[in-house]
Amino acid sequence: MSNATKPCTYCGELGNHRDHVVPKSIHQNSVTVPACAECNILLSNQLYVTIPDRKAYLKEVYKKRYKDLINMPNWTEKELEDVGDRMRQEILSALHRKTLILARIKTCGERSKTFL
Ligand SMILES: [Zn+2]
Repeated sequence: MSNATKPCTYCGELGNHRDHVVPKSIHQNSVTVPACAECNILLSNQLYVTIPDRKAYLKEVYKKRYKDLINMPNWTEKELEDVGDRMRQEILSALHRKTLILARIKTCGERSKTFL
């Protein structure tokens, strides 16, 4: 399995980056794990040196960052029929993003399969 196909250690998205569990600025040869771009950027220079601590940090960041999307109400089929095509596409797109971020936040809250 190549790095490009491994899931992000933190949120489960496509992990096509490598996160230094101990930031490079502290330890040049620290262990790296697959991470998605967003988790990798958010964790850069964060002084959390275990995967559970890094996941807990990300979970809180994502809950704040995507608060509006998370709080977006779900729409019924009937409600969606009553709006125009363009509006319906935007709502469906936002609901899709909501589903994805909720799955990522859930993964951040789960026990890691990597023992670090
Ligand atoms: Zn991630």
